[in-house]
Amino acid sequence: MAQSTAAPNPTPVTQAITPLPLRSVAPWAVFVGILMLVLLYFVGAEQGAVSALSGEGVHEWVHDARHLLGFPCH
Ligand SMILES: [Zn+2]
Repeated sequence: MAQSTAAPNPTPVTQAITPLPLRSVAPWAVFVGILMLVLLYFVGAEQGAVSALSGEGVHEWVHDARHLLGFPCH
């Protein structure tokens, strides 16, 4: 009977994953949260319920998203 010439399996390498501290993530989470609120305002209310910018440019750009998210439009 022939013996196998394959190399033995290498030992698995384990890497420890260090969790990010909350103090370093919190400012970015607040920043992204504010950006999302601004985006939600422009999609949901700008040039619909309220209008901070004149014209209909914002409305045309976010019109489909407004309908997709169920905001009242027209
Ligand atoms: Zn509409």
